Amino acid sequence: MDTIKAVMLRDWCTWDDDYKTLVEDLRAKLLALATKKTEEYTITLMQGSGTFSVESIIGSIIPPEGKLLVLANGAYGDRIALISKTLKINTVVHNSGELAKPDLEKLESTLKEDRDITHVAVVHCETTTGMINPIDKIGEIVKKHGRVYFSDTISSFGGVPMDISDLNIDYCVGSSNKCIQGVPGFGFIIARKKEMTKIKGYARSLSLDLYDQWQMMEADGGKWRYTSPTHVVRAFYQAMLELEEEGGIEKRHERYSSSQRILVEGMRRLGFKTLLPDEFQSPIITSFYSPESEKYNFKDFYDKLKARGFVIYPGKVTKLDTFRIGNIGDIYPEDIKRLLKAIEESVFW
Ligand SMILES: *Cc1c(COP(=O)(O)O)cnc(C)c1O
Repeated sequence: MDTIKAVMLRDWCTWDDDYKTLVEDLRAKLLALATKKTEEYTITLMQGSGTFSVESIIGSIIPPEGKLLVLANGAYGDRIALISKTLKINTVVHNSGELAKPDLEKLESTLKEDRDITHVAVVHCETTTGMINPIDKIGEIVKKHGRVYFSDTISSFGGVPMDISDLNIDYCVGSSNKCIQGVPGFGFIIARKKEMTKIKGYARSLSLDLYDQWQMMEADGGKWRYTSPTHVVRAFYQAMLELEEEGGIEKRHERYSSSQRILVEGMRRLGFKTLLPDEFQSPIITSFYSPESEKYNFKDFYDKLKARGFVIYPGKVTKLDTFRIGNIGDIYPEDIKRLLKAIEESVFW
């Protein structure tokens, strides 16, 4: 949106009161989007892309003797495990494969048997495939067994209605450039206050110390510890206003869902097959099998669409030949119809 980019033309100071007021306002708005129980949760903003915020969480919330169980079914679940192992945290991974949901019975029995596990992590919308994971059912099991629960909600926050308190979430995370539709540059961590007060001194990194960043924002009303991406934050504020204008998360979810439906119907008419069954599918991004024709190659297809003004994603699934089409952002059902026409013109097999 040009309006979002336009507000970046003014400069702001990281420590200035006007800027800090904007940050505080933003934290309050994000909190209200996340839950009705605003008194139980708190928001911390963190510099960097979404992965930096995930690393901040993993590195800051697990005590030295803690152990993390990661439920992985794609690249972003694998990334949580990789971060954890890189930080020398005791890590166990349940990998259900990219086409299956996490195994809930195995989760339950593992939590019963392995008393060393202190934390459980799962991705909500696994952007690798477009799969939506059952974070409600996982949350119930994790809470029943008294463990701390983290969900990477980066690709769904702002685009899929949820109340994180109802989901038993202790920590979750979003980033500036996904469903809130700002520009890239920072992430936001939503945390249960009761848990945050316990994590002082756990951080395995100085700049990504979640507790310290939170304490600074609380003590000095909206102050980040190190230079904050001021222009990006201002743009994000504008994006939040535009989300409100659109009618909030419910309305945005309706738009994404109808775009995704039109996309899948149109693609099926053109002979494409989706990787996932419809009931596993999020309204965020969709994976399609590549056509079997020998004449097809992704690069040509990509270039043809790009020349018509559309950029698609390569597949991220390891063993199957796929490509992905995302429909979040300033994209409307009419754009999807134009895309379908461009795809029809680009198929040559
Ligand atoms: C986008 C995304 C991230 C963060 O990726 P960055 O490239 O660091 O912005 C993390 N998890 C999920 C599920 C995502 O979709």
